Amino acid sequence: TADSAKSFLRRNAFVLFTIAAVLLGIILAFSLRPYHLTYRQIKYFSFPGELLMRMLQMLVLPLIVSSLITGMASLDGRASGKMGMRAVVYYMVTTIIAVFIGILMVIIIHPGKGSKDKLHREGRIEQVQTTDAFMDLVRNMFPPNLVEACFKQNITHALGTISEVLTFEEVIPIPGSANGVNALGLVVFSMCFGLVIGSMKQKGRALREFFNCLNEAIMRLVAIIIWYAPVGIMFLIAGKILEMDDLAVMGGQLGMYTLTVIVGLLIHALCILPLLYFIVTHRNPWVFIAGLLQALITALGTSSSSATLPITFRCLEENNGVDRRITRFVLPVGATINMDGTALYEALAAIFIAQVNNYELDFGQIITISITATAASIGAAGIPQAGLVTMVIVLTSVGLPTEDITLIIAVDWFLDRLRTTTNVLGDSLGAGIVEHLSRHELDAQDCELGNCEPGKE
Ligand code: ASP
Repeated sequence: TADSAKSFLRRNAFVLFTIAAVLLGIILAFSLRPYHLTYRQIKYFSFPGELLMRMLQMLVLPLIVSSLITGMASLDGRASGKMGMRAVVYYMVTTIIAVFIGILMVIIIHPGKGSKDKLHREGRIEQVQTTDAFMDLVRNMFPPNLVEACFKQNITHALGTISEVLTFEEVIPIPGSANGVNALGLVVFSMCFGLVIGSMKQKGRALREFFNCLNEAIMRLVAIIIWYAPVGIMFLIAGKILEMDDLAVMGGQLGMYTLTVIVGLLIHALCILPLLYFIVTHRNPWVFIAGLLQALITALGTSSSSATLPITFRCLEENNGVDRRITRFVLPVGATINMDGTALYEALAAIFIAQVNNYELDFGQIITISITATAASIGAAGIPQAGLVTMVIVLTSVGLPTEDITLIIAVDWFLDRLRTTTNVLGDSLGAGIVEHLSRHELDAQDCELGNCEPGKE
């Protein structure tokens, strides 16, 4: 048994380190809180965490591009089309379920008791419509400048139309939140590019090998950084706890709102998604989720699904043995467009703001909120608190005051972490589901390459 305990420890070293680091971070932070550290001291204290964040972000761009190009180039057109369809259906179905749960929870629990005067609507200059949100999404898919897309997300046109009313930075003071990689544009480009060089036979070989090699090298860097991750996460979490306001702000409506979001996210993450995984694959979802622990904790620590992407890759490939042809293709797309937690939260928060304003929403408006919340979650970048920014679209689509986002800012850093974890879980279970459904194509391709296992095709 000593041997088996040792081998258990060795196999799970990373996860155990990470869990220990989180606990240590929490204990450390709460024991330092009574000393009321200054802003500057807290910044010094959380510096190791900031470094982790930067290291992970550094890898995201080459990782997304190289894995998608390699993934698409290694699949034949028909197989990738089928897998793509499955992934998109999974993303849509789970996002719609998430929005539905969010709406249901906020209606049942009703955290917002109309406490403000009836809504003043004169402030609104131009109403953003649902179509604007969709056109924005499509615009972002085709970045006019690829280089710019690597460091700047297009400020959406729909948001441009209301910029007369407010500027983002005024309302939502989150540094850097409006910018970020235009991942959607890069995803679309990389997929097309990969498909094309895949079809170029001999001529495309050099490029295929180049991107394959790049991908391999990036994954090796991930393997190094992952050792530092527990330390970084510890300081990220401790720093945030030191920085946060006293928990008294959580009383009253805001507390109820927070609770409603938590309940909604838990239902989606711990009931719906595992159930779906079980129904499709007939495998134990908890074993799969156990393999993902490190990615989930990283999501909790960084509140960014794109910064977590390198770790998600590693967990799925190394711990859960998901085929690389699937992860390379499904994960970057998922981290960019599949955000169940964000969709749930956006719909819920918008209705909460309506409740606070005593604003009766009719059925049509609730549908509008569901549709725009879905679009806003697809359009949100996988960076901290991006969901708060795209919520402007949801609010304006039904004429709710965008200034009221300030009501929920105080708790958003916390809810952001939970919804990011839900987002990463959704992407990862999706990879498992798509792999299961695509077994046939994967096996057929193995056979073509001469790696047929006896008994298969
Ligand atoms: N932070 C989230 C993510 O990276 C996005 C959001 O703000 O909802 O997945």
